Amino acid sequence: MSEKRLVLLGATGSIGKSTLDIVRALAGKFKICGLSTHRRISDLVSLVREFKPEAVTVSDAMAFKEAQSALFGLGVKVFGGEEGLCQLASLGGADRIVNAIVGSAGIRPTFAAVEAGHSVVIANKEALVAAGPLILELARKRQVDILPIDSEHSAIWQCLQGEAASSVRTIWLTTSGGPVLDVPIEELEKVSPEMALAHPTWRMGPKITIDSATLMNKGLEVIEAHRLFAVAPEQIRVIVHRQSVVHSLVEFCDGSFKAQLSKPDMRLPILYALGYPERLEATLVPTALDGIGALTFETVPEEKFPALGLAYRALQKGGTASAALSAADEVAVAGFLEGRISFPQISQTIAAVLDAWPDEPLDSLERVLEADKRARQRAAEEIRKRKALRDRPVIENAL
Ligand code: NAD
Ligand code: MG
Repeated sequence: MSEKRLVLLGATGSIGKSTLDIVRALAGKFKICGLSTHRRISDLVSLVREFKPEAVTVSDAMAFKEAQSALFGLGVKVFGGEEGLCQLASLGGADRIVNAIVGSAGIRPTFAAVEAGHSVVIANKEALVAAGPLILELARKRQVDILPIDSEHSAIWQCLQGEAASSVRTIWLTTSGGPVLDVPIEELEKVSPEMALAHPTWRMGPKITIDSATLMNKGLEVIEAHRLFAVAPEQIRVIVHRQSVVHSLVEFCDGSFKAQLSKPDMRLPILYALGYPERLEATLVPTALDGIGALTFETVPEEKFPALGLAYRALQKGGTASAALSAADEVAVAGFLEGRISFPQISQTIAAVLDAWPDEPLDSLERVLEADKRARQRAAEEIRKRKALRDRPVIENAL
């Protein structure tokens, strides 16, 4: 494989760092030509010294000013804000744009990349959930690829190689169950941010870790799988697999299953998407089968995880409902991490936004961005209501 030129959006996060590990380990395979961070300036300065990209973006407005002086003299173009992310995503001469931004901030840069004719290696599931059909349609027109990094989708993609789409009976997404799987339902009220952030098998950024505790992450992944593999929602099922070794499975029409296995380490799915269609040789993630022990599969206790059902509801509603679900989730997760709402109130907040969401078509990027903004406002109102109730003295509540 000739050297591929990469732009890495969200270089300072968990997926960003794993991607850079791969670039370091596979010398001569990849060249970093662009990097972004939201506000981690000192990390960005070190990365610029190490990888010598031609351009970088600092998306936070305050941090951008600081970055201009911190990067002065290093011979790198510095873009700022969301516009700067779009400029970086459409950088001439790039072979692939890796989108490792968290949240709906990744939507516009994804469009910009595809519009500019770049294939996108995508970790940013929120963009696919909110705007998947529009992104995939544009990618078809521009004849570029959308290559998933999410471990479940990478597994399904690998299992589907050489198979006819019509031979798929069910896609099985695995979940470790996250850190609250064994917490009794009546104690979920007491789950603190610290408990919810202690994921049993994966080390990830805070937003996706909380999503993994509520199982909204799996809900977003159901929508992501529906978008990427064009399978009906009722053909996508979720199963608890505590060990996170089987990253997902496809059940075929003859009753046979295919699965993809490895130690839980995001560098493997990232490597697959970066190298595709080639499988690159690497020893980054050794998996000793005899050290794994038993692999178990259990039914999801759905009553404990209402967020999962909300994702299916959003898909059923169609239009901008998935964008609303994803945006409301972002606001609710932030509210939980700031101690403003309880763990069960994350799903309640999202449900309240979804319940009142109007039917409207998913027909343009502008519509998605407007829906995102409106859902955020609605979720913030719901959180204010819930916080006000929580803050009322007990005696007043009793009246
Ligand atoms: P993270 O919080 O560790 O990193 C996020 C990155 O995005 C950072 O570089 C940060 O500077 C940047 N960022 C944050 N807010 C931004 C904003 N408003 N505008 C622009 N940039 C912003 O997150 P992560 O865990 O690396 O996850 C990134 C994406 O990958 C998410 O969509 C997540 O769902 C998905 N994903 C992550 C994992 C994982 O193992 N971490 C696995 C599967 C999918
Ligand atoms: Mg995943």
